Amino acid sequence: MRVIVIGGGMFGASTAYQLARAGVDVTIVDHAHPGKATLAGAGIVCPWATRIEEPEWYEMYAAGARFYDQLIADLHAAGETDLGYRKVGALVTSTDPAELKAAGERISGRVKNAPEAGDVRLLSPGEARDKFPALREGLEAWFIPGGARVDARLLSAAMIRAAVARGATYRSDYVTLDMAGDRVRVRDGGGRIMTADEVIVAAGAWASQILDPIGIAHPVKPQKGQIVHLRLAGVATAQWPVLLPMTSHYMLTFDDSRVVVGATREDDAGFDYRVTAAGQAEVLEAAMSIAPGLVNAEIIETRIGFRPAGPTVKPIFGRVPGIEGLSVGNGLGAGGISIGPYAGKLLADIVRGETPELPVTAYAPQRS
Ligand SMILES: Cc1cc2nc3c(=O)[nH]c(=O)nc-3n(C[C@H](O)[C@H](O)[C@H](O)COP(=O)(O)OP(=O)(O)OC[C@H]3O[C@@H](n4cnc5c(N)ncnc54)[C@H](O)[C@@H]3O)c2cc1C
Repeated sequence: MRVIVIGGGMFGASTAYQLARAGVDVTIVDHAHPGKATLAGAGIVCPWATRIEEPEWYEMYAAGARFYDQLIADLHAAGETDLGYRKVGALVTSTDPAELKAAGERISGRVKNAPEAGDVRLLSPGEARDKFPALREGLEAWFIPGGARVDARLLSAAMIRAAVARGATYRSDYVTLDMAGDRVRVRDGGGRIMTADEVIVAAGAWASQILDPIGIAHPVKPQKGQIVHLRLAGVATAQWPVLLPMTSHYMLTFDDSRVVVGATREDDAGFDYRVTAAGQAEVLEAAMSIAPGLVNAEIIETRIGFRPAGPTVKPIFGRVPGIEGLSVGNGLGAGGISIGPYAGKLLADIVRGETPELPVTAYAPQRS
């Protein structure tokens, strides 16, 4: 079987990697649009703290985090060890004591079925600051030991390299789709037909641009996110936990004294690939109000990503009804670094005709 995967972000890279591991002949085509979400994603993998109550989505979110242990082990075995992955734990805090209490109850309920989250406990303000020294004084925090962070740039590139090592082909190009009878066809940037038995569109926020011309009204739209990278020169940040202050803002650190603070969620900005004054201010103000220890940090870059946001938080993946040889993997929204690797595994199973280990009908794409 020959498969073309369109898109080399978290969804496409994972699907291609899993297909290649199963011995399938895969070609990955990626245009790397400015604003490719995977290149901007913060990298938090900690589903248990979410405030969103959506059972089917949460099932995927939690399974996605659980899958990481296996994924990281498989990639290590393939020689891919530079992934920025570390189980640093997560601190969940709030300036509102009632909200912190409610968060604790929610998290405790969820982790009962998730031993990988570790033993969740409430930290005193001093203990919380010992773990995250930039945190403001006086805040208690729930600590979730199993929370992790990963560098999605490194991880997606590693999955693609591991796929190529197993025989996949990687190609940098912008492709389009047309129909030959009931069957979908891919054309490369030069208009030449690329032959395949199966085509998987994992094109993120841009997917409707290639699905519209073949009559598919795909509901995923861009949600712009601006995310700021700071450096605390000389500070050893490698072990700092992810900080989740129960708003849409958060922060996490990497080994190179980097503190990543995010992020805006702009639903009406289209593909506006610009750092804006309002976006930058929003993110920095939120960060410094919860972590005043960052005031002297150096701003090193602001990244922009277009989250592929569907009509609900649930991802959309599987075969497209009525079109031969076409599948879609999309709609990862704000949780795609957590969910993407696992969803890619499930989609690879579907395309190979295997029964995925989770029921997937809730995520099935529609034709219109
Ligand atoms: C600021 C920000 C912070 C985030 N933080 C987190 C987080 O902490 N944790 C978490 O779990 N998730 C997070 N996310 C979400 C996560 O990054 C995304 O859900 C995920 O990366 C989406 O991956 P994707 O593969 O679907 O899309 P993308 O990464 O956007 O990849 C799609 C690819 O398809 C390519 N493409 C499109 N059309 C074509 C074509 N016609 N031909 C060839 N190639 C094409 C594009 O160029 C692109 O490279 C964050 C996102 C943002 C923006």
